[in-house]
Amino acid sequence: MRNASLLLITLLAFVPPVHAEWVERVTDGIMGTRITVELWADSSAAGNELIDAVLTEMRRIDASMSTYRKDSEVSMVNDRAAREAVVITPELFDLLSTSLKFSRLTDGAFDITYASVGYLYDFRHNVRPDDKQIAAALPGIDYRHVLLDAKQRTVHFSRPGVRIDLGGIGKGHAVDRSIALLRSRGVAHALVTAGGDSRIIGDRFGQPWVIGIRHPDRKNEVIARIPLEDAALSTSGDYERYFDEKGIRYHHIIDPKTGDSARKVRSATIIGPTATMTDGLSKTAFVLGAQRAIEIYNSMEDIDAVVVKPDGEVLYTKGLEAPK
Ligand code: ADP
Ligand code: MG
Repeated sequence: MRNASLLLITLLAFVPPVHAEWVERVTDGIMGTRITVELWADSSAAGNELIDAVLTEMRRIDASMSTYRKDSEVSMVNDRAAREAVVITPELFDLLSTSLKFSRLTDGAFDITYASVGYLYDFRHNVRPDDKQIAAALPGIDYRHVLLDAKQRTVHFSRPGVRIDLGGIGKGHAVDRSIALLRSRGVAHALVTAGGDSRIIGDRFGQPWVIGIRHPDRKNEVIARIPLEDAALSTSGDYERYFDEKGIRYHHIIDPKTGDSARKVRSATIIGPTATMTDGLSKTAFVLGAQRAIEIYNSMEDIDAVVVKPDGEVLYTKGLEAPK
């Protein structure tokens, strides 16, 4: 009798909470993009509370890093840093340091000062700078204009006309912060996506997550499926924010050398350990071209990539086998 009740107690300990379930939510409008959160939680209420916490974190980052908000920390830096060294939060300081590291890693292809020209584009209203405007603003683009002082925790621009924008790395950062938050609350299976940037904790019902890479022109056609567990993935594409004019596509990834849209590839998908890394690397191929970008990705131990060239050819890093 005693043994039987012991057995029952032991068995009960292994029964998962009755209401454990998969909870998901899609939210538009934070960081100007779509946020998707999916996770396995003890109950629907617990899952929704976790998702609320993730969205609060995303809104906090948006409020501090958006250049669309006049009162954000980044806007304050853009207003003042050409005149004086500006003290910034540790979080922004770290992300600026990381951004400069990616500039050095990518021969300057990733460059947050792209915004010195980038702010003249408005892809929603088919607005682009003309050659004269680009020539006048171009000297503001160079990541070496951004001077960081770790002791004082300041940022200072070396000349007037410099603007920064974290649109190419902020979503990756926000996804990483969200994943850290979920992990600290004991979540073992989750996906967080912000725009083109995703990160995954664990697996999904015992199987890897399968993330599809879409065809650059045909929205519903998948050109590759990538199984992932505990990884981050970012895709950049020339079909996200763009307008076409006289057969030329103007889109949101800017070549820091020319101030024009970077057209050497149609899309680039990067897989790596953190979304900050994969986000910071997904713009590179557009600027440097598929060959050089794949060389850089191959030189990084924990990075893989799939790059779609303008002629439709798909290139893979050595860690990924081309599908048969
Ligand atoms: P998403 O915003 O969906 O994550 P991407 O990761 O492709 O898309 O980032 C595109 C954004 O990167 C642009 O909207 C712009 O803010 C920024 N950007 C554009 N060109 C560059 C560049 N050369 N270096 C760094 N950031 C860039
Ligand atoms: Mg991104």
